[in-house]
Amino acid sequence: MRNVMAHRIHDVGTSIFSEMSALATRHGAVNLGQGFPDFAGPAFLKEAARAAISADLNQYAPSHGLPVLRSALARTYGPLYGRELDVDREITVTSGGTEAIMVSVLALVNPGDEVILLEPYYDSYPANVLAAGGVPRHVRLREPDWTLNPDELRAAITPRTRVIMLNTPHNPTGKVFSRAELELVAQLAREHDLVVISDEVYERLVFPPAEHVPLCTLPGMWERTVTILSAGKTFSVTGWKVGYAVASAALTEALRRVHQFCTFATATPLQAAVAAGLEAGEGYLAEFRAFYTARRDELVTALSDVGFRVRPPQGTYFVMADYRGLGGEGDLEFCRRLIREVGVAAIPPSAFFHDGHQTGHVRFCFAKQPQTLAAAAERLRKLTRA
Ligand code: GLN
Repeated sequence: MRNVMAHRIHDVGTSIFSEMSALATRHGAVNLGQGFPDFAGPAFLKEAARAAISADLNQYAPSHGLPVLRSALARTYGPLYGRELDVDREITVTSGGTEAIMVSVLALVNPGDEVILLEPYYDSYPANVLAAGGVPRHVRLREPDWTLNPDELRAAITPRTRVIMLNTPHNPTGKVFSRAELELVAQLAREHDLVVISDEVYERLVFPPAEHVPLCTLPGMWERTVTILSAGKTFSVTGWKVGYAVASAALTEALRRVHQFCTFATATPLQAAVAAGLEAGEGYLAEFRAFYTARRDELVTALSDVGFRVRPPQGTYFVMADYRGLGGEGDLEFCRRLIREVGVAAIPPSAFFHDGHQTGHVRFCFAKQPQTLAAAAERLRKLTRA
């Protein structure tokens, strides 16, 4: 039989998250690799989902989202973005942030258009760009602080550039882009007439003094930004796959043309539950942040104690740890050894560079119960003993 794979997916491999999670399961490792909470989402949210199913909210939602959820989103994000959001024309509910990103790329990128990816990037971005027939152009964030160099970004823009993909707070580095960096992105977007797909799914996971600046709030950026958000992250229910895209009416119309023929709509009872979740507001979010701050500090301490060099992340639930004091191999080999010999799984960030660039770091996730992190800490001690 002929090769069944379309050309555009030849270079798309298996996601590193699936690969490392499968390996972790096979070896009974404590999984600090793939980013997902290993604890229950809030009881009120689960109760709201059960209630919605019992009330027979079980048929298709409107394609762009349940009205009650879009209203809750407008009430939540309107004040944060300093504008009244139009629930009918500026908010679209998707099956997770990942769908929102894919839909945005397919809606905005023509074959041959160039898309700027900041490396390390989330692995779905290049796959999405290739699916759209776009051409990725890479700009590397520079260590040790994963800084965006203005000249490098400027140099990557050509007359064919159409979109910049931004991610703040940033996975995998835990960086929160500074206002100055975002202003540069905004300035170049305005100058070159670009759209920015701004993946802000970790917006609620920012540790002071770092501060999250939504790109769409910068001057002239509302018209040029698609903001991607995620209930999975904010309510610790990644398996629900409820995300949203907030954007101007013109951009939203484009996204919806793709979304309607992609998933059409997202699970109705889960949308209803997320609407209830958003009403819980600041009380819930303060607890959420306090929980993650404690877990971050525990993991940073456990890693530092055994010889990783770690800078506490400004945001997200990931820590990048420099392992060069513990081994000289590449990051994938180090992660494989960590799973097999130590029993802890991490993610090798070379998967997030187009050329497999080695940073000497591996990524650990701290969206875990204290006992999971304690078990990982105990196992990691083998590293120094070895
Ligand atoms: N966002 C998660 C992470 O960065 C992975 C999600 C997935 O496996 N697709 O770990």
